[in-house]
Amino acid sequence: MADLIIIGGGVIGLSLAWELAGRGLVSQVFDQGPIGRASSWAGAGLVPPPHRAKDLNDPTCMLRARSADLYPIWSQRLLDQTGIDNGFRISGGLDVALNSREEPALQSMTGRWRKQGIRFELVDDIRAAQLEPELTKDFSRAFYLPERAQIRNPWHLRALQSACQNLGVTMHPHVPIQQLLVKNNSIEGIKTNHGEFAARQIVVAAGAWSGPLLGNLGIHMPTTPVKGQMLLLDPGQILIHRIIEHEKCYLVPRDEGLVLAGATEEHVGFEDSLTDSAKGYLWNEAISLVPKLAQSRIVNHWCGFRPGSKDSRPYLGQVPGFSGLYVATGHQRAGLSLSPGTAESMADLITGQPTRIALDGYSVAREAAPRRDEAVRS
Ligand SMILES: Cc1cc2nc3c(=O)[nH]c(=O)nc-3n(C[C@H](O)[C@H](O)[C@H](O)COP(=O)(O)OP(=O)(O)OC[C@H]3O[C@@H](n4cnc5c(N)ncnc54)[C@H](O)[C@@H]3O)c2cc1C
Repeated sequence: MADLIIIGGGVIGLSLAWELAGRGLVSQVFDQGPIGRASSWAGAGLVPPPHRAKDLNDPTCMLRARSADLYPIWSQRLLDQTGIDNGFRISGGLDVALNSREEPALQSMTGRWRKQGIRFELVDDIRAAQLEPELTKDFSRAFYLPERAQIRNPWHLRALQSACQNLGVTMHPHVPIQQLLVKNNSIEGIKTNHGEFAARQIVVAAGAWSGPLLGNLGIHMPTTPVKGQMLLLDPGQILIHRIIEHEKCYLVPRDEGLVLAGATEEHVGFEDSLTDSAKGYLWNEAISLVPKLAQSRIVNHWCGFRPGSKDSRPYLGQVPGFSGLYVATGHQRAGLSLSPGTAESMADLITGQPTRIALDGYSVAREAAPRRDEAVRS
């Protein structure tokens, strides 16, 4: 019998498996597809800047702040353990409004940044041109966040998988879990199309597919997929050095000059077509922010399914009424950025330690929290 099975080999499942293995609890990770390929692979890899305020009391904010602190530590540790660079770079970012109508929403972010102790600076057109000479001159307001960071998701996932395996974690790709096996409200294992596997503890970290796994137990945990399409552009030269954000879109420069242009937000279930309308929308966004991107070649176009939740907060913790059953999912637009803090606090819980971040506000059984657009724009 396995001590612990994690369902889902995305960034959440792998981060938790690695954190637990580092504490001596070696798990088995099951995935219905390849490991590290679903939403986590598709994401842009934006990582929020450090929060220096001491009195953060919003749960999402605490998770984000802790994760921002852990990212550089994790990145170095992953490099040491695996030799794989996960692409963590403090590239800095510019947040822009393109007209006066967009200014109030951007300006309102400064209150949040100030409260959370995030470094930022209002920039005029001279300073903006120094920072990013190819940024459009037609912006009406811009802020520079020097500590905004990024990772390369595929590299990060590869590093996590390798680090897990070095510590003895077993990966089971291409094994869909059909059902959780429960007796007298205690977890007993999983049923897959490769047979049954017994386990004392199970963590459901199956992203947008998590809801139905609990639905079979009569638990309502909506994880409605939110489709995001993204373009990878090759302008043939290095045009930008910093992440540029505009409303819900962004441009992310990679070391070699490639630029990610993301992302749509579509409520279309698991419909996975790549559409011309999304391509046109992202292309137009890209060239309105950096006109010279018009000379780019579109190298790739893909989509992924962010795991939704009832109120844009993830579900973290033990499932009430079921011994040995945990969830870590529903991170929506911020699963990559929140993954180290998620893994740390979930590992605290599973190993019987006080959790670094109080998880009450993330309970599956919570009342939906008031909606807030707190997540990074990704
Ligand atoms: C276009 C786009 C851009 C994004 N950009 C960012 C960003 O910049 N920063 C950020 O923080 N976040 C970003 N996100 C969001 C982020 O990618 C997700 O929140 C995060 O990847 C969720 O991780 P996960 O491990 O929960 O889910 P996933 O990566 O989807 O992993 C879940 C895994 O569970 C497996 N699974 C599902 N059901 C079963 C089953 N029955 N049996 C076995 N296995 C199962 C799946 O195959 C999958 O591999 C973005 C997402 C998209 C789509």
